[in-house]
Amino acid sequence: MAFYCYHEFKYNSAPLVMTQKNIHPQIHLKRLKTNYRLVAVLWALLIILFVTWSQQNINSEAMGLARQEAISNFNKDQAFRIWASEHGGVYVLENERTPANPYLSDVPERDVITRSGRQLTLMNPAYMLRQMMDEYATLYGVKGRITSLKPLNPDNAPDSWEREALLAFEKGELERLEVTDINGKPYLRLIRPMVTTEGCLKCHHHQGYQVGDIRGGVGVSVPLGNYYIIAMQHKISLWLSSGVIWIFGLVAAYFFRKRGEEKVYERMEFEAHIWHRANFDSLTALSNRDLFHDRLDQAIANAKRNNLKLALLYIDLDRFKDVNDAQGHAKGDLLLQQVANRLNGCVRDADTVSRLGGDEFTVILSTIADKDAAAVVAAKILDQLSTPFELDGFIAYISTSIGITLYPDDGTSSGILLQNADAAMFKAKTEGHHTYRYFTSQMNRLAEQRVNMKLALHTAIEQSQFELYYQPVFTVKDGSLDGAEALIRWRSPEDGMVSPDQFIPIAEQTGLIIPIGEWVLQQAAKDLAYLDEVGAELKNLSINISSVQFRMRDFTSNFLRFLEHHPHLRSRLTLEMTESVFIDEQGDPGYHLGQLRKHGVRIAMDDFGTGYSSLSYLKRFPVDKLKIDRSFIQDLIGDPSDAALCETIISMGSHLSLKVIAEGVETEEQWNFLLDHGCDSAQGFLRGKPMPLAELEQFICNLKMNEN
Ligand code: C2E
Ligand code: CA
Ligand code: CA
Repeated sequence: MAFYCYHEFKYNSAPLVMTQKNIHPQIHLKRLKTNYRLVAVLWALLIILFVTWSQQNINSEAMGLARQEAISNFNKDQAFRIWASEHGGVYVLENERTPANPYLSDVPERDVITRSGRQLTLMNPAYMLRQMMDEYATLYGVKGRITSLKPLNPDNAPDSWEREALLAFEKGELERLEVTDINGKPYLRLIRPMVTTEGCLKCHHHQGYQVGDIRGGVGVSVPLGNYYIIAMQHKISLWLSSGVIWIFGLVAAYFFRKRGEEKVYERMEFEAHIWHRANFDSLTALSNRDLFHDRLDQAIANAKRNNLKLALLYIDLDRFKDVNDAQGHAKGDLLLQQVANRLNGCVRDADTVSRLGGDEFTVILSTIADKDAAAVVAAKILDQLSTPFELDGFIAYISTSIGITLYPDDGTSSGILLQNADAAMFKAKTEGHHTYRYFTSQMNRLAEQRVNMKLALHTAIEQSQFELYYQPVFTVKDGSLDGAEALIRWRSPEDGMVSPDQFIPIAEQTGLIIPIGEWVLQQAAKDLAYLDEVGAELKNLSINISSVQFRMRDFTSNFLRFLEHHPHLRSRLTLEMTESVFIDEQGDPGYHLGQLRKHGVRIAMDDFGTGYSSLSYLKRFPVDKLKIDRSFIQDLIGDPSDAALCETIISMGSHLSLKVIAEGVETEEQWNFLLDHGCDSAQGFLRGKPMPLAELEQFICNLKMNEN
């Protein structure tokens, strides 16, 4: 089925609307997704790089601070050492904590006794500083020590790292740093050279040092624990803030992706909309003519590939125009929508229902087992559409004509199949409505004839190939001449005399009825004037007016102007119209008919009895005459129901003060029946066939002579 939905529109072909850069939307969506992933990965890498770089900064900053602490401790140590060396050491009370230094036994003034008898011993700077550093280590965790390649105290012997540093100092290096573990805890170790000063020689001259010599190194170990904690705190806030920035970036990228996708979807939606408008009928949502052709081509290609049969059904609603005109377009639209729904209900999903325009629909049965399968669907459609339609309180009954054509039996191209289905539908219509017909090759000829006739009618107008015949109309009561009906004839150079039944419907379809109707009026006016002139006056002249003609907006005003120019026609003209004229309520036929009658024009309802709802129109619209259709007169004698109908029409006419005319009277029995039942006038082959003007003139003259 051809109902549109957005998801059906899958872009399986190139997009219909070429847009910016002509990128297919699906590719666009894929690109957006890939770009988003790329941005996400790059963004994550960037953040990781930034975090790594910042961590390194934090680490080196922590190390820098630790080094600074180590240096300041080193400086203090140096200051103390210089002070102590300058003074050659410090004398302190000899006690357990500060016993006499055995490594200074060579120094003669190591131990002295004060005048008050107290025992003092010399603390050399190294000794003093070791003790101070021990205090420092206990209080602040910062360890300091001196070391030398030639230590006086074996405790001051260097470890391997210190040894390497001391050797490097001798070569001119000024500082060494390392991070190490001391008792399972991290420390920053700094070592700098210790230079011999004058004061040092007091204890160390025996080792051979000169002032300025590098005598060893002073090491300071700063605990890194606190620095690590602070660094860790910085890192945590770094991670947190970077995480937030990372997520924010991701969200922003995602937002841009979504925005991009939305734009693509908007574009797809827009294109789908355009595509839908171009391919679907806005009223019924069925596929339109363009899409129908597309689908039919596809179905044919598929059937060809798989060796299948397909059927095309051409569906035309009978008398839809009447409903549309009588009930207004809103109800007409409603009817078409309901028809579309019912049609959709009659077919499978794979089949396509389309509206070609107006009240013409098609169904493509994409695969059928055999010829009969198409008839089953056609019968189902006829059945479905025969159920009355509820149109906002108005109940409409419609009938349907269906033409069926088959692939490959009747044709192999979409154009031919459509033409054949149309011809078959036309056949169904002419053979009684509400039925279906299969296409036959003979229909081709008929269809062709219709096309040719359209063309030929144009030429007929240009070359004035029309003639006007007149059929006399008699008063039934006394058999006197009442008037005549003008009937058009077409003398075609190719086909001879063509019956108006054949060409008037085509002239109506093509609008050619307007110039033709115009010609009839002008010709009738001329002919009537001629008859007046030769003394063969006609009291009444009936002219057939097509409903298409009458519905032209300025028909009434044009006609009244025409009357003004032809005063001899005044009060002698009857316009014969069929019921379809009265049905067009929007055109206000009552008003126009009233205007015409006001100017002495009489109105006859032609073919009375063949239409429907005639009585209600009779009540509402001003008419003067009823013409009983000749189909009722034909069987008047053999068919009691036709007789009853004629009787009813005649008596109804007299009740409503309308003149009743019978047409197609061919026998005396029919005439007598009309006479017995009080019919006003009659025309027919019995008393006079339609004849050219010259014959009519003769006919009238003969009548006059007989009267005399
Ligand atoms: P209609 O208005 O019903 O005209 C009566 C038709 O019955 C005429 O057919 C006439 O020749 C035919 N007829 C008259 N008496 C008899 C009879 O005793 N037996 C039989 N079998 N037929 C009889 P015609 O002239 O072929 O016209 C056919 C239809 O074409 C007309 O039906 C009318 O609807 C239309 N038509 C004719 N001339 C004009 C015209 O100038 N303008 C328009 N719009 N329609 C016209
Ligand atoms: Ca008529
Ligand atoms: Ca008729």
